[in-house]
Amino acid sequence: MMKHIQHRDSPRYIQVHPDDNVAVVVNDGGVASGARFSDTLQASENIPQCHKIALADIPRDSEIKRYGQVIGTALTAIRRGSRVGAEQLSMPSAPPLDRLPLSDGASRDQTPLQGHTFEGFRNADGTVGTRNLLGITTTVQCVAGVLDHAVERIRKELLPLYSNVEDVVALTHNYGCGVAIDAKDAYIPIRTVRNLARNPNLGGEALVIGLGCEKLQAQQIMHEGDRSIDLQEPWFYRLQESKTGFKEMIHQIMSLAEARLQKLDKRRRETCPASELILGMQCGGSDAFSGITANPALGFASDLLIRAGATVLFSEVTEVRDAVHILTARAKTPEIARQLIEQMDWYDHYLHLGGADRSANTTPGNKAGGLSNIVEKALGSVVKSGHSAISGVIGPGERIKEKGLIFCATPASDFVCGTLQLAAGMNLHVFTTGRGTPYGLAMAPVIKVSTRSELAQRWPDLIDVDAGRIISSAGSLEDLGWELFHYYLDVASGRKRTWAEQHRIHNDLTLFNPAPIT
Ligand code: CA
Repeated sequence: MMKHIQHRDSPRYIQVHPDDNVAVVVNDGGVASGARFSDTLQASENIPQCHKIALADIPRDSEIKRYGQVIGTALTAIRRGSRVGAEQLSMPSAPPLDRLPLSDGASRDQTPLQGHTFEGFRNADGTVGTRNLLGITTTVQCVAGVLDHAVERIRKELLPLYSNVEDVVALTHNYGCGVAIDAKDAYIPIRTVRNLARNPNLGGEALVIGLGCEKLQAQQIMHEGDRSIDLQEPWFYRLQESKTGFKEMIHQIMSLAEARLQKLDKRRRETCPASELILGMQCGGSDAFSGITANPALGFASDLLIRAGATVLFSEVTEVRDAVHILTARAKTPEIARQLIEQMDWYDHYLHLGGADRSANTTPGNKAGGLSNIVEKALGSVVKSGHSAISGVIGPGERIKEKGLIFCATPASDFVCGTLQLAAGMNLHVFTTGRGTPYGLAMAPVIKVSTRSELAQRWPDLIDVDAGRIISSAGSLEDLGWELFHYYLDVASGRKRTWAEQHRIHNDLTLFNPAPIT
């Protein structure tokens, strides 16, 4: 896809598609006014790294193209060689949802990839964990302080006795009471809490701590849908059952935890086919490199995983909305394309109710990183999904029903998306970043991939994989894609630990609650 890359030490740009009339400057530190590229192009002003340069004179009101797609129209005449920023282009309207291709019917089946495995923990419900974690979920925020205290003691006093259990995680959140529990969209946070507790990395089941008087009752988390719970096994405690106060609460939680730890400790890693991986992909702190280095590398690795029979989730509705015309064509069936459109439509409506639109997505950091608007950001974001057919669509908080490439509808907000992908059943997470973020999750390993080598060098103890090498060392996309694929299997097997795991840094679970708070 990269048409033109000049010699690495001279002023360089990358033009993604032959139709593009803008390209991205790739030199660390950008290029100075007067800098001459190896062809006849000369920068007519200073242009920072990641920012766009006009490859041709662009008359006022004419289209500006990147990725072979229109990212805006010129608000003024733009001269060849000048910087093209957000202030010079008007944003096109989003693709109308009633005129999208419903599935082009093309077969995207590729040769199956066989023989790739990882070492995972098999669960009774058929899923496979990449980690063996004790999960303790909650029905309401009221219990979070007590539970955090108990978890600290469990980690210190009990965990060392059960060496096959890797950690203990409190699934605390801000839902459960003071909410309109029967409101139209309340099913989203409720099913999220329920499905989080079933995440494969928790052995498919979690202990539950409640208060007693809250609206969200434990049965709603554990007993709805297709789940059946072994009632013989202690799995639930309400703090209001305590007759003597805090110490008793801690003792009760620790007793429940110890019983569960004994069970989890008997588990051992066993060889599982790569098809048991459920990889969640997302990006955060994106820049104009995201769509030419890290995201295409993820896309290549995603296609490999799909060929190996695995499940790959991509998400972030506001970063998909403006590229949805590319995706609906790739849906396996017209019905799947319609489900994708339904999710876009739901979100358009949700934003509208809040008096916002899709332009609310782009951040000051995105713009400093050369991304002019959400159209350009979305076109670079969906590259993560590779070239495979889309074989399923799930709503926010829903659990996956089939394997393959799945669109998991979530907001683009990093921690909300991560939380919803965990609820979908993700057992491994990969995250691309250009501006840099220390993001992590407690329930699944997070592999962080930088879009630029400069970031990877500056943050060597936070970035796991440097995709900037595609530009800085002229590395090939294919090599990096394969490297990622093998890295996924190594991390899933526990042979490698991500930086976020090593430092034990993770963000809070953050529920998506479009329903009213009371
Ligand atoms: Ca994100």
